[in-house]
Amino acid sequence: MPKPRRPRRPLRVLVTAGPTREPIDPVRYLSNESSGRMGFAIAHAARRAGHSVTLVAGPVALATPPGVRRVDVVTALEMRRATLAAFPHADVLYMAAAVSDWRPRRRLPGKWRAKDKGSSTATLALVRNPDILAACGRHPSRPGKLLVGFALETSSGIPRARAKLRSKGADFIVLNSERALNSPRASALILGGDGSVRRLTNRTKSHIADALIDLLGHP
Ligand code: C5P
Repeated sequence: MPKPRRPRRPLRVLVTAGPTREPIDPVRYLSNESSGRMGFAIAHAARRAGHSVTLVAGPVALATPPGVRRVDVVTALEMRRATLAAFPHADVLYMAAAVSDWRPRRRLPGKWRAKDKGSSTATLALVRNPDILAACGRHPSRPGKLLVGFALETSSGIPRARAKLRSKGADFIVLNSERALNSPRASALILGGDGSVRRLTNRTKSHIADALIDLLGHP
């Protein structure tokens, strides 16, 4: 694998990684299968390339890459707060986190006792979480920054990813399939706002991370 070359100047790279966890009650939550490996690999690759890196991490069991500043969060609202606090000081955002689209309308103070009522079905009221990438895409400090989003699609991937590129104001969207979840390898399509397409097939996440850091350019 080619070693990433040193950029002209070190950039301030902000990476989000992992799932978010949305509490239902003190012992239950909604979440997803994201392992955080892709985002951690990007943070590691960015640091190896000489950039300064802030990693906003959801709950994952991964070691912090050397030299990376890590901010741990749990919920989507915490991730939004941490990301928007760091975003004005960043040159680049890699939004690799699998943010929960929904959260329970309220976190119950005690255990959810739905089954005690004898019913065989139960309903959990959910509210939409804010879109963090879209908020960065329209942030006043957005001009001059590079925004890279991720999309996990099970079908009609490319048109949906292109639509996301526009609606979220990103420069690139990295399209993965669900086979990438929790796996050390992945295939990815890097779709650019300029219509460019780069296909990486069955590569390690570290290889894909280096390709994504290469988007930052060389001297
Ligand atoms: O809309 P979808 O979840 O497929 O979009 C994926 C991209 O948007 C990812 O980069 C993800 O980190 C980001 N996202 C976000 N906030 C959300 C949902 C997704 O930043 N609430």
